[in-house]
Formats: sequence, C-alpha cells, structure tokens
Amino acid sequence: MRPFKYTRASTIPAAIKLAGANSNAKFLAGGTNIVDLMKEDVEQPDELVDITRLKLTQIKEIPEGIHKGGVSIGGLGKNTETANHELIRMQYPLLTQAILAGASAQIRNMATNGGNLLQRTRCPYFYDVAMPCNKRKPGSGCGAMAGINRMHAIFGWSEKCIAVFPSDMSVALAALEAVVKVQDHKGQERSIAFADFHRLPGDIPEKDNNLAHAELITAIELPKNNFANNSYYLKVRDRASYAFALVSVAAGLELDGNKITKARIAMGGVAHKPWRALKAEQMLVGKEASEANFKAAAETEMDTAKPLEYNKFKIELGSRAIARALYMAANQNGNK
Ligand code: SF4
Repeated sequence: MRPFKYTRASTIPAAIKLAGANSNAKFLAGGTNIVDLMKEDVEQPDELVDITRLKLTQIKEIPEGIHKGGVSIGGLGKNTETANHELIRMQYPLLTQAILAGASAQIRNMATNGGNLLQRTRCPYFYDVAMPCNKRKPGSGCGAMAGINRMHAIFGWSEKCIAVFPSDMSVALAALEAVVKVQDHKGQERSIAFADFHRLPGDIPEKDNNLAHAELITAIELPKNNFANNSYYLKVRDRASYAFALVSVAAGLELDGNKITKARIAMGGVAHKPWRALKAEQMLVGKEASEANFKAAAETEMDTAKPLEYNKFKIELGSRAIARALYMAANQNGNK
C-alpha cells in the first residue's frame, strides 16, 4: 500500500474544500471498497478525506417540494440502518430486500449509502494489476474481452469495457427512480436522477458515474410510490451469501385489481450501470398481471441483449429472473 495523507473533515464545506484542493484526493466513508482497492494498488489516491464525522446519516420523510411524502436517506447512513429503518421497511421494502441481499452483515454495518453507489466493479481483471484494464489504466486494453467474461455485461457495453456494476442497493434505487442529492466544491447543490447518475462505459470506462471531482453525495431521495405491497428483489448468484449477482431484478408494480397500471423493473449484473428494463415496463402497462404477460415482457427485454463468449446463459437467466420477480411482486401483498 502506498503512503497517503489522511485528513478528517468536521463540516460538509470543509470536506468538499479539502478534496477539491487535491485532484488526487478521495473521500473516505465506510472504506469497505476504497481501502481494499488501495491495498491491491488498483486505486492510488495520495490523500483520503475522512467524512465519517459529517452529519449526513438521517432518514426522514420529505416534508415539502416535488418529492413531498417520500423519504430522504443520508449519504452517510449505514446500509444496515437504512435497510432496517421503519420508514424503509414499510414504504420501500424493495430497498430493504436489495440491501440485505448485498455483501455480508459485517460489510453492511460499515458501508454507507453514498459509498454503495460509488463502489467499483468487481471485474477480476480490474483488480489484477498485471492485466490490461482500460478502467484502471486508460488505453491499456481490456483483459476481460478475450478472457473469462462469464460475469460480464450483456447490455450497453463498449469495446473499451464490458464490466458490470456490482451494487444491489442501486438496482432497487433505479427501479424506485431515486434522486441523488450532491454538493459541489462551490457549495452548490444539485439533484441527479438515478438513471443519469451511473454511466455506460463508452470511450471513457474509467468514469463510473457523472459526479465531478470533490462532489459529495449528501442524500438520496426516494419519491413516494405505491409499490410497497407489490415489489420484489430477486438475486441469482453462484452461492447463497456474500456473492455478486449473475443477474438480479428489482420489480415494482402498481395494480388495479389484477390490471397493471405501473411497472418499474431494473436489472443488476448485466451492465455497467443498473439497467432499466424499459421495454418490459412499457409492455406491461394496461395488461393483466399474468405469468404469460410477465414471460412475454421479459423475453422482449432480453431480445436486445448482446452476450459475450462466456455469458450467453445470462439471456435465458435474465428472462426467467424478470418473469419470476414480477410474479413474486404481483403475489407479494405485504412483504414488509
Ligand atoms: Fe477493465 Fe472493464 Fe475490461 Fe474489466 S471489463 S478488464 S474493468 S476494461
């Protein structure tokens, strides 16, 4: 591990100022990913700005504005506390399920909400500094392209990078159409729709998201919705715990009797960002909540997938996972 400077901020402006003054500084929150990456020499910041003392842990109802009646979760709230909070369990059980499907209890106790969104891919070639990787070292090539790409993307990848984004929490946040609140180095606040927060790799795979340097995630807002009784997070993985998704699906439905009035579906393990299954969503509106309709919508979504040599199985798996998650959501009725 290389030497680095450690600074601790006690206020939000101080944290942003410290990080903003050094283009090679990073924020340190739970540290569950950045510290590993530094030990492996994948990340090489020369300064860590500790933000763990900032008062950004609150989970509360939003009293006014366009998301009035929704819930705001602090950027530094711990994943465990968020998953178990009464407001989240009662109003957004999809988020609780997704968080609890990720990592291990020990990691969830340390990891923060903002950090979860900023974790980096688990592509093994990214972690192996002896291998070429455009994300770790731009222009060096992609070791996974001709390598063992079983865990990699089937949607939205580029010739430069075929990695997938590993977060479970973010898949639920995509389906819930969350909004990320950030503050920049001038103290300006801005809101980023969740669909615009993470990026596809394109020509700059080293950039995972649309945050500028030293922008700080202060909160994540969850708009009010009616998915609480009809939502489900399904994660398919190689072992039952402490494994990243081969494919995951976050599904939320609004039903009028058995008729679908609104559907939100996002997938994990298939792209460089949480993948919204927009075609499937559109197909379902106005239809009966039936297994045949779920299967047809799932197959239509997966028709556009572009698999790699070792991950062709993800098409059938993704199709079945979408149909199953929708079935479970439709028949959940009080999964809180
Ligand atoms: Fe690097 Fe992306 Fe290729 Fe993995 S898939 S080796 S992260 S460029």
